[in-house]
Amino acid sequence: MRLAIYGGSFNPPHLGHTAAIRAVQAAARPDAVLVIPAATPPHKALAENSPSAEERFTLSRLAFGALPGVTVSDLELRRAGKSYSADTVRALRAQYPEAELCCIVGTDMLETFEEWHDFAYILREAALYALAREPDELERVQTAAARLRAEYGARVTVIDTPPLPVSSTQIRLLLRRRGGAEFLHPAAYAHIIRGRLYGAQPSFDWLREQAYPRLKPRRVAHVWGCEHEARRLAERWGCDADLAAEAGILHDITKKLELSDQLLLSDKYGIINDTVETANLKLLHAKTGAALARDLYGVPDAVYDAIRWHTTARADMTTLEKVLYLADYIEPTREFPGVDRLRELAYADLDKAMVLGLEMSLEDLRADGITPHPNTMNALAWYKHRGETT
Ligand code: ATP
Repeated sequence: MRLAIYGGSFNPPHLGHTAAIRAVQAAARPDAVLVIPAATPPHKALAENSPSAEERFTLSRLAFGALPGVTVSDLELRRAGKSYSADTVRALRAQYPEAELCCIVGTDMLETFEEWHDFAYILREAALYALAREPDELERVQTAAARLRAEYGARVTVIDTPPLPVSSTQIRLLLRRRGGAEFLHPAAYAHIIRGRLYGAQPSFDWLREQAYPRLKPRRVAHVWGCEHEARRLAERWGCDADLAAEAGILHDITKKLELSDQLLLSDKYGIINDTVETANLKLLHAKTGAALARDLYGVPDAVYDAIRWHTTARADMTTLEKVLYLADYIEPTREFPGVDRLRELAYADLDKAMVLGLEMSLEDLRADGITPHPNTMNALAWYKHRGETT
């Protein structure tokens, strides 16, 4: 049996790793590839604020678990101390005495192989499959391979497949700038965003792809309009326009759910609804939507609160909460008597716009015989009072 061992930090695992696995499978036809995330990598210190080893293991399972012939192993997670590859090779040799063991390494690891703990033991027990990480690195790989062969009798096979040139370091940087998704398995990316690992911010395209299928088709134009109106209002009133856009994209993600599903979600997230809320389906989606957005997409508190209060409003709102409340009201697809006045006011005086928006909303509720939520009454009283005292 030929067993390929692929160790690394996988912080996070990326499509460059996947390409390397596929190249090894195509060139060397191993019976199995074992991906082994290091608990405590001995070669490079983990970047600050890296997720736990368990989290990197979960990410690796999401990234590689479905590849045929690949198993993600927790062998190094179960071992205390530094995760030396020599110890891993020793454990696998004991488990599979007859197996042909081979370690997969990229340029950087091959060139520094003699720094590995007990590297001579590894070279005795295992062959190496070496791959370039950048398109112009093949010569470096061949030189390092030739040296290890000549000096230590190492069995090194250079796999001459064009690499996917990407590194975990680059991806961590991209994730913080709403990029990186293109280099990650979709399930790994979703997990990173959910936990906002690496300080990741979601790509807006990705967030729309998540949100839109949750909407009734006719609401998509409204949500698109709300995202962009919220961004413009945030820029006008000096709050974070990217967070406003996140709130705009996600604010209605549970709106199409029936009462039974709203109540199931309420139960799941420990939301307690009062009688006015349970009598009015529209009021539930602000609470369940905020909870779902936090659970699935890791939204920060400011976005959670904006979604939470976008329907009833409340007294003493943050600027972002007011921005979403008004964007929802005045985005370009909205048409009702008085909308132009409200649009004008939203850019001229945010608190006065709140008063007008709340008054219009209460008028509509009364006309439809719906009991207004006390939070809406409190909000109106608050902003009216502010208008009188400022
Ligand atoms: P870093 O950004 O810290 O360099 P990394 O992208 O190298 O991280 P690791 O988990 O350290 O990720 O890499 C595990 C193994 O995969 C190493 O042997 C490395 O050389 C190899 N490797 C990483 N990226 C690629 C790639 N794009 N193509 C081929 N091999 C790669």
